[in-house]
Amino acid sequence: MSTHSHKSPPPPCAIVIFGANGDLTRRLIIPALYNLARTRLLPPSLSLIGVDHNKKTSEEWAAQLRDFLAQTLTKNNEEVDEGLWQQVARCMTFLSGDFEQNDTYQRLKDLLVELDEKQSLNGNVLFYMAVADRFFGTIAGKLGEAGLVEDVAQVGLVAPIVQFWDRPTGALIAEFDHALLKGDTAYPFVVQCEQFKTAMLALKRLRDLPNVEILFEHEIVDVSQTERHVSASVREPGRVTRHVGGYLIGADGGRSTVRRQTGISFDGFTWPERFIVLTTPFDFETGIGCCPRSYFADPEEWCNCFKVSANGPPGLWRVVFPTNPDTPEEELISDKAVQARLQKFFRSSTTYDIVHRNLYVTHQRVASTFRLERVLLAGDAAHVNNPIGGMGLNGGLQDAANLSEKLASILLDGASDRQLDLYDRQRRMVAIEFVQQQSIDNKKRLEARDPEIRARHLAELRDIAADPSRARQFLLRTSMIASQRRAAAMRLEDA
Ligand SMILES: Cc1cc2nc3c(=O)[nH]c(=O)nc-3n(C[C@H](O)[C@H](O)[C@H](O)COP(=O)(O)OP(=O)(O)OC[C@H]3O[C@@H](n4cnc5c(N)ncnc54)[C@H](O)[C@@H]3O)c2cc1C
Repeated sequence: MSTHSHKSPPPPCAIVIFGANGDLTRRLIIPALYNLARTRLLPPSLSLIGVDHNKKTSEEWAAQLRDFLAQTLTKNNEEVDEGLWQQVARCMTFLSGDFEQNDTYQRLKDLLVELDEKQSLNGNVLFYMAVADRFFGTIAGKLGEAGLVEDVAQVGLVAPIVQFWDRPTGALIAEFDHALLKGDTAYPFVVQCEQFKTAMLALKRLRDLPNVEILFEHEIVDVSQTERHVSASVREPGRVTRHVGGYLIGADGGRSTVRRQTGISFDGFTWPERFIVLTTPFDFETGIGCCPRSYFADPEEWCNCFKVSANGPPGLWRVVFPTNPDTPEEELISDKAVQARLQKFFRSSTTYDIVHRNLYVTHQRVASTFRLERVLLAGDAAHVNNPIGGMGLNGGLQDAANLSEKLASILLDGASDRQLDLYDRQRRMVAIEFVQQQSIDNKKRLEARDPEIRARHLAELRDIAADPSRARQFLLRTSMIASQRRAAAMRLEDA
């Protein structure tokens, strides 16, 4: 839970504004920076880089923005304070360039390096897309190509290929290369990144924001709301405090207290079998010949065999199997049982080194709504699914991106709060029609027992992989791009 507080200015940074001549820059970003100067919250060292396609000097850009700021302030009977304005204006550099051209990003990169050296910005860069949403994909992709994005790809393992194997025969059934999605995304690969690393990246960004407070060891125990506010009781060491705000986002996992307290049902079912995850440095790529993202279909015991980068090469392998619901937990995770399970999967002359073992109960459930007045749900609090296909956390991150955009438009631009109904519609549609269906289908494909159905599933996978057009459609679905597109096409009127 975050609360606003008056704090010291953020660390030195560069802010790159795409759409430097646009309305959003003039009406929102520049007045906001001017206000930060007024409250002494501008970073001690700041570079403001405006990117747009027309030609002008940095001085001309600053002068135009000053005129617009003056017009805005006049409406409140205020004048521009030259001292404050100069604090903003002296940071401004205009870079003329086309968003579609690689050269723009190369020059931006050079400029950032130069400014970083001069101003010791420590690589802190915020990219602000003050442009129409149709440019978002192009700009994000080009930033990535130019190496300008701090990416999970740097801390995770990049896996362009996914394979499906038939475990009983040891045959490779199908292989899909995400390069087929080159025309659909600037990132045609999967990044296998442990959740704690993603969380650390997010925490690092959050800590740099002046109006965010991160409170560990604080547990929400009670939630209530009125027409105007939502409040939560939070248990912290030694006391319980009450926090009041405009909105509350329950991103508190599958057993969400926020969801329960708000009375939102969590409909679906729980699989009878638990999944066991075993983590080992054993290199299955050398052993079996499978790639770092491999699924093994087997009517007796399917398996997901994935590599993660851990603390760097050579990385670790996470192997997931179903377990017998009647076998007690202690027996399932005993040394003897896990060694036997791995030896059955791939016979090794040495004992497996097992660095981590865990059993998970898995569910297929979706909250009956992701919005109840001022309470929103996101991530596992809103939807849970079996992990085959790796869609749980990814879906949660998409919730976060969708919701933060809508909250920003409500809080900063005065948009209608019905935007939050659209969030509910879009993200529940994705959870139900894509993630639930796909993750259940994935499981069925791997575990099918009926020989005819099994043969049909494997033949279908082979056929899809052999046809580039069907393979692309398959990957668009599994990579959740298709669902994102469908959600983006939904309008407020549908909500
Ligand atoms: C075996 C397995 C493999 C998986 N593999 C993948 C994969 O490959 N790809 C993928 O995308 N997903 C995968 N998932 C799913 C993924 O782990 C979850 O979707 C993800 O962890 C959900 O993140 P979350 O932040 O919504 O919830 P959580 O990770 O559960 O985080 C909730 C947070 O809220 C805190 N919290 C809980 N209650 C309270 C309270 N009352 N007050 C304050 N704080 C509270 C918790 O301490 C926790 O920090 C896998 C899951 C499993 C079990």
